[in-house]
Amino acid sequence: MSQGEWQHRPVRPGDPVRPAPRHTGSLLVDNIGELVTNDTGGEGGPLGIRRDAAVLVEDGQVAWIGPARYAPAADRRIDAEGAAVLPGFVDSHAHLVFAGDRAAEFAARMAGEPYTGGGIRTTVGATRAASDDQLRDTVRRLRDEAMRQGTTTVEIKSGYGLTVADEARSLRIAAEFTEDTTFLGAHVVPAEYADRPDDYVGMVCGPMLAAAAPHARWIDVFCERGAFDVDHARAILACGQAVGLGVRVHANQLGPGPGVQLGVELGAASVDHCTHLTDADIDALASHRVGCMCPDGRHTTTVATLLPGAEFSTRSPYPDARRLLDAGVTVALATDCNPGSSYTSSMPFCIALAVREMRMTPAEAVWAATAGGAAALRRDDVGRLARGARADLMILDAPSHLHLAYRPGVPLIRQVLHNGVPQCRP
Ligand SMILES: [Zn+2]
Repeated sequence: MSQGEWQHRPVRPGDPVRPAPRHTGSLLVDNIGELVTNDTGGEGGPLGIRRDAAVLVEDGQVAWIGPARYAPAADRRIDAEGAAVLPGFVDSHAHLVFAGDRAAEFAARMAGEPYTGGGIRTTVGATRAASDDQLRDTVRRLRDEAMRQGTTTVEIKSGYGLTVADEARSLRIAAEFTEDTTFLGAHVVPAEYADRPDDYVGMVCGPMLAAAAPHARWIDVFCERGAFDVDHARAILACGQAVGLGVRVHANQLGPGPGVQLGVELGAASVDHCTHLTDADIDALASHRVGCMCPDGRHTTTVATLLPGAEFSTRSPYPDARRLLDAGVTVALATDCNPGSSYTSSMPFCIALAVREMRMTPAEAVWAATAGGAAALRRDDVGRLARGARADLMILDAPSHLHLAYRPGVPLIRQVLHNGVPQCRP
């Protein structure tokens, strides 16, 4: 019996008890064949899967989840037609405030030139020359593009301004689109400071941080050979912590290095890339669980966020997710969307890469792209579907989450709800 029939026939003795209809714009998503909740509670496996379920949305939040046959009445209804429904993706690593593109650099790389990170300066020049509206239009375009592919939460970094004024405006614009803004003044040392990196670090910790902090939740450093060494990175992150920003680190992308262990030492929410890890790096990540905010103490304090779009676009070896997962490290997947080394906004693409190239199971990859991203942002209101969580979800054109990896490159997102509001169908 469909929900429509429920709403149009009188209640009979023996019918399931149904709460009275709500008066404020409630929305019922029902006829869900497979509902991924990430709310384990001992059932439904690691993704907390429920069958034949329904989700009631009110005031932008999940108000009720249960078997479709017990679903309360609602003002509006979306029939999922037996498809899979998942929490919206949480893309916890993206660089969306920039101008220009670097398609020619990508083509040169595919023709054999190595990736060094030096192209960031090309984007810095274009970003400084752009107007606020040009930057804002780019963020909006990419945010909308990501939303059509199921992303309902995105972290956005600065890092292509690299002056006090340009970093502050990058974050001001980012904050128009997300709560999770990240100050990345320490992306590279800009050309005008090439001979005096100490002076640049002093500026980042001083006037640039002061201008950026009011618009930022996080601070991040590109800790890598050719960018910032461990002493500079520690100094910058400590300054950010001192003014209340949370810590994230770009670490161990291009080679082994101190970034991951620095992140763990500082209690970073996430260390990102993690392409080249030693056993000591993995031990450090796996052994720190203090400060974990999840109810069951499952997460490591510092999440390892893997960005396979970067390895794809730089033709580099992928990180070994299996090694991290087997050691008990919490893993997130994110796009690293940026014009140089990973110009994709597609979380389904990252899931497919993670499954095919990084030895993750489809379930692990879906968890990492939803609940894992939320853990990397230390958020418990997104990345899962449970009563009180934000009503961010997607309906697939597929019967199960497996299809996200099984059918790579196919637009499988039929509908997205963000804060309970259906977005336009692509
Ligand atoms: Zn990045």
